[in-house]
Amino acid sequence: MTILLSVAGLVYTILLATMFFIKKKVNNVDVKIYGFLIVITLVSLCTELTIPILIYSNIMTLVNVVMKVYLICTIIWTMFFTIYVYSISHKNNSKNKILLLLFVMINIVFSIIVWILPIYLKDGSNKYAYGPSVDFVYGMAFFYTITIVIITLLDIKNIRKKQYIPVLLLILLLSITGIIQNIYPEVLLINFVYSITVFIMYHTIENPDMKLIEQLNIAREQAEKANNAKSEFLSNMSHEIRTPLNAIVGFSQALSEEENVPVEAKDEIKDIMMASQNLLEIVNGILDISKIEANKLEIVNTEYSIKNVLDELTALTQSRIGEKPITLRTIFDPSIPAVLYGDYVRLKQIILNLLTNAAKYTKEGYIEFKVDFVIKEDICRLIISVEDTGIGIKKENIDKLFNKFERLDLEKNITIEGTGLGLAITKKLVELMNGSIVVQSEYGNGSKFTVALDQRIVEGKQIKDIEEASTNIEIFDASNKRILLVDDNKINLKVAVRLLQNYNVVTDQATSGMECIEKIKQGETYDLVLLDDMMPKMSGVETLKELQKIGCYHTPTIAFTANAITGMKEKYLKDGFSDYLSKPIDKLELNRLLIKYLKEGESK
Ligand code: ADP
Repeated sequence: MTILLSVAGLVYTILLATMFFIKKKVNNVDVKIYGFLIVITLVSLCTELTIPILIYSNIMTLVNVVMKVYLICTIIWTMFFTIYVYSISHKNNSKNKILLLLFVMINIVFSIIVWILPIYLKDGSNKYAYGPSVDFVYGMAFFYTITIVIITLLDIKNIRKKQYIPVLLLILLLSITGIIQNIYPEVLLINFVYSITVFIMYHTIENPDMKLIEQLNIAREQAEKANNAKSEFLSNMSHEIRTPLNAIVGFSQALSEEENVPVEAKDEIKDIMMASQNLLEIVNGILDISKIEANKLEIVNTEYSIKNVLDELTALTQSRIGEKPITLRTIFDPSIPAVLYGDYVRLKQIILNLLTNAAKYTKEGYIEFKVDFVIKEDICRLIISVEDTGIGIKKENIDKLFNKFERLDLEKNITIEGTGLGLAITKKLVELMNGSIVVQSEYGNGSKFTVALDQRIVEGKQIKDIEEASTNIEIFDASNKRILLVDDNKINLKVAVRLLQNYNVVTDQATSGMECIEKIKQGETYDLVLLDDMMPKMSGVETLKELQKIGCYHTPTIAFTANAITGMKEKYLKDGFSDYLSKPIDKLELNRLLIKYLKEGESK
């Protein structure tokens, strides 16, 4: 009967070992220990089957040796299993390896003791081994079993982990085997117990399918490649769209300020400006969402005045409401800390999206823009709500609200411009800033969006201490100044010249990096250089590097580019540019740069 069990055990352990060793494995401690356990089980089963054959053939000299090997296998197996239990109960413990070594050393000593101690064979029809060597092994097996029980009890909260199934099974089987062995010492069950345990362990050790992992890795690489291609395509598209937009925005701006343009034309020019501004917002929105999805959007924290932010948002919303019969109510708690630390550009973007939607989806009534706050230690939680008396949102649509490209209630909204990106970006930005956003709405009556965002309070600073971009354009006379414009696109050059006309500044032009370098080398001097980056043959960055090699070149050089995704400004500053101006040219930004480099530079 026991021989039959051993043969069965040997056959399926061989199958198991073949499967295990052929399969690609993860190289962790559990898997390595499992490999040892399989090998020892195999050796032990072989010795168990060899003993009766040797006795039967009357080769008694070898019986002693094989029996000792069998006993040593028992000790080593139990030791490795104890290490396994320790390993699953102490995951991520770097001491595992040292402990493993210590255990192995102790076991070598134990094995030598087993080898030295005498062993006897009981005569009679039921032969079995006895003597000090056998007693020692049983004693050690008992000691290890108790250790396993203790380790398991110490980790009782994780007992439901699937790795504990073979452990519990082994404790149970060893207890039963102990009792049977006591009554019938000739019945050898231990190897049967080991075979069952390694069989169960095969399904519970952490050995994820390597083939699947490889496939997943390939899929991930492909997805990353596709995503990079998408990002590159989007940034190229943005560049391409921005270049013609620069002409439309620039010339319409210039024309709207022109005095001898007929009044009727002025209205149309205004429409062109509005339409191009919308188009620019769409391009920026698509870029933002793709950046957020590629985890490339960074939160840039600075000190800012919350009052300035709120005032600017109020002014923008008022102009967005235009002639509509909507009252804009603003309720700002006057005791909000004056200076906060956070990403005010993104904060503005979040609130502006909500205010713009309120203005878009409300025909009449009011928009209430309210800002409250709660202080906890040095954190000011801003609670911003935007409530309107607009068309409202159907209950079943609330869940879809933040999906990208999702526009709701189209039968009502068909005439309202939009891409369905605003709220998707808003939600992602709020999440990036660790805040929250909630919506309450009654269809037909209006909606209320509430955002909560934590910003750090900057103690001891007043609004006047914060350096922020001015919102007023201050035209000044710069007729004694010279600017070099470098761009391969002639229309871009024309737009820049047109916008600079107001300042009477003298402009010179170059259509390539080489031409620019040539001019400087010939001794031309300028007060400012606006240098495009994406030019054929020699990029702006390369041109700047060459210019810097010319000893006397210290002219402030601004990256003047349609490469306007987030993070570009920082990149260009790192490349050595003094500043950054994106296309389409923002009049306010141009004004700020001219004041900084032509006006203030002079007064210093
Ligand atoms: P867009 O306004 O460009 O369509 P958004 O993502 O900003 O995209 O908004 C998604 C949809 O949510 C809108 O199409 C509109 O149906 C609905 N919505 C957003 N804000 C409001 C609001 N204040 N009142 C009613 N509906 C709104």
